[in-house]
Amino acid sequence: MAISLTRLRPLLVGGIAATLAWSAQAVEVGFQAVAPNVYAHVGDTEGRTYENEALNANIGLVVTQAGAVLIDTGASFQSARQIAEAAKKVTPQPIRWVINTGGQDHRWMGNGYFKAQGAEIMAHADAEADMKARGPEQLKANAPVLKEKLDGTEIVLPTRWLKDANTRLELGGTVIEVVHRRGGHTPGDSMVWLPRSGVVFTGDVVYVDRILGLHPVSKTKTWVESFEALEALNPKVVVPGHGRVTTLAQAQKDTGQLLKALRAHMGKAVEAGTDMDAAIKSFDAAPYRHLKHVDVWLPQLANLTYLEMEQE
Ligand SMILES: [Zn+2]
Repeated sequence: MAISLTRLRPLLVGGIAATLAWSAQAVEVGFQAVAPNVYAHVGDTEGRTYENEALNANIGLVVTQAGAVLIDTGASFQSARQIAEAAKKVTPQPIRWVINTGGQDHRWMGNGYFKAQGAEIMAHADAEADMKARGPEQLKANAPVLKEKLDGTEIVLPTRWLKDANTRLELGGTVIEVVHRRGGHTPGDSMVWLPRSGVVFTGDVVYVDRILGLHPVSKTKTWVESFEALEALNPKVVVPGHGRVTTLAQAQKDTGQLLKALRAHMGKAVEAGTDMDAAIKSFDAAPYRHLKHVDVWLPQLANLTYLEMEQE
């Protein structure tokens, strides 16, 4: 190696240096097989950083006979290109369809890259208002984190809005169902279900390994309904929105039970007139201590659930 590098130096040093600089800076995307023709990239479980390019979420890929289906596009144009490169390593099929599972940045801000490649981009219609309202905020929030890695990123909405609670698609001969129960983490949250292989991509309906997040647009009431729709599918493989590829039992432990416990506890507190601080302090966090970021996020989850239930 050393000899050939020395000999090549006069010709190629510029090219090699540029390649190294690119690969050292670009986020690493890798698709692992979870079933025949079905792949998942498991993203970082930390917050958004320059290094992870805000691609701190999982991405899915389904290969059909007539093209590939990408589930979520990452938070930027440049990381979308990395996703496309990673897809090329597992299939020669072009990405012809994209499904955005929700309105959070890492689900759809890479849409522009795939639209330019001619892909049809789908999401549930309940995502539209949320994407339009928060898209500019998401770009603004990511700008100081991603710096020049955000260059090229624009707000590009889906090209096809799905209207039903269950939409059955047949893409390249593969049956795919998009399951939507009025959202949870974001209003457009949907799951992508592959009935033949028993794999479900849950988007932000399921978090494992790290604690789930609640934002002002989140609704625990419909999130629980989405989670119950997941349970009804009885999936063999659960690709969560965040965390390692998992089982339904683990998803129940890390997400479903936490949501139900928060709602039960805060519902009682609201009814009894207990003040919010006391209700937050008395929530039993012991079953969730194994989840990353629990100390930072749990008080906020309790707080937002209390406020939501006051409104119900
Ligand atoms: Zn997310």
